Amino acid sequence: MRDVVVIGCGVIGLSTAVLLRESGFDVRIRTAAMPRETTSSVAAAIWYPYRAYPEDRVLAWGGRTFEVFEGLARDPKTGVIMREGFELHREPTPDPWWMDAVPGVRRCEKDELPPGYRDGHAFTVPVIEMPIYLGYLLDRFIASGGSVEVRPVSSLAEAASGHRAVVNCSGLGARRLAGDDSVVPIRGQVVRVRTPGLDRFILDEDGPEGVTYIVPRSEDCILGGTAQEGDWNTAPDQTTAEAILRRCARLEPRLAGTEVLEHRAGLRPGRPEVRLEKDVLDNGIPCVHDYGHGGSGVTLSWGCAEETLGLVRKALERTP
Ligand SMILES: Cc1cc2nc3c(=O)[nH]c(=O)nc-3n(C[C@H](O)[C@H](O)[C@H](O)COP(=O)(O)OP(=O)(O)OC[C@H]3O[C@@H](n4cnc5c(N)ncnc54)[C@H](O)[C@@H]3O)c2cc1C
Repeated sequence: MRDVVVIGCGVIGLSTAVLLRESGFDVRIRTAAMPRETTSSVAAAIWYPYRAYPEDRVLAWGGRTFEVFEGLARDPKTGVIMREGFELHREPTPDPWWMDAVPGVRRCEKDELPPGYRDGHAFTVPVIEMPIYLGYLLDRFIASGGSVEVRPVSSLAEAASGHRAVVNCSGLGARRLAGDDSVVPIRGQVVRVRTPGLDRFILDEDGPEGVTYIVPRSEDCILGGTAQEGDWNTAPDQTTAEAILRRCARLEPRLAGTEVLEHRAGLRPGRPEVRLEKDVLDNGIPCVHDYGHGGSGVTLSWGCAEETLGLVRKALERTP
């Protein structure tokens, strides 16, 4: 009998599994796909609360995750770096609601605003290079004695067999596994390009032609994006890609004509609120649900993992 089975090998499942294992639990991950095939690997990824609710819990989880990423950024092998950048607005805009989680947020100077923008905020946040970071988390989990089984779960009760507790980090898969129709895809498409030496990110969340962002990483740059609710298509679309490239080159002219390396699309697990709570399955086994992080799974990952750890600890204190 093992202590815990974690369902899912995206950023939520991996962070939780690492924390549980490093806290002394015997942990196995069950997953339908390895990290490279998850939504998490498509993420840009920047620390930024987007399409995740409720705000008070998101602020607490996000603040804690920010602190953990700041520590990870000191180790180059994690794929986490701290980067300055801008969030731009076409109209004067109040300070961001998540400002308490990020030290040093300031209003942009006029000469920092590209044409067409009247306001903006500058701040330094973690940028997480997901293919590297997910590999780092997986290695850390395995090195600590955890195991991974690639085999889809047919039901929570089936996964629970042989374990004292289940942690459900199945993202969009929770729609079926937990019978939760409030989980919906929010499709995001990105273009990976060769970086023309950019060192700052730019976000324009509410442009008339859709969300636009430029996230420079170590060797490349992620250009986005879209937020298409209810769209299940994981195949990148050429017209959308051309529009993304056009919008990004307008924001940052050095991107014009840059070499395209890859097109990707992923389905964010949208939900009216993140579901992070303890449940009990019909067979009496405790199950902690941790899914529905929308466009903020990376941003909330460590805060949620710590809360999940607390719930698992409490549940296992009561079961033999
Ligand atoms: C284009 C794009 C850009 C983004 N940018 C950012 C960003 O900048 N910052 C940020 O914080 N977030 C960003 N996100 C959102 C972020 O990617 C998601 O919130 C996050 O990946 C959700 O993680 P997850 O682990 O819950 O889900 P996933 O990564 O989807 O992982 C779910 C796991 O569950 C497994 N699973 C599902 N069903 C089953 C089953 N029945 N049996 C076994 N296993 C199962 C899957 O195989 C997978 O391993 C972005 C997303 C996209 C698409």
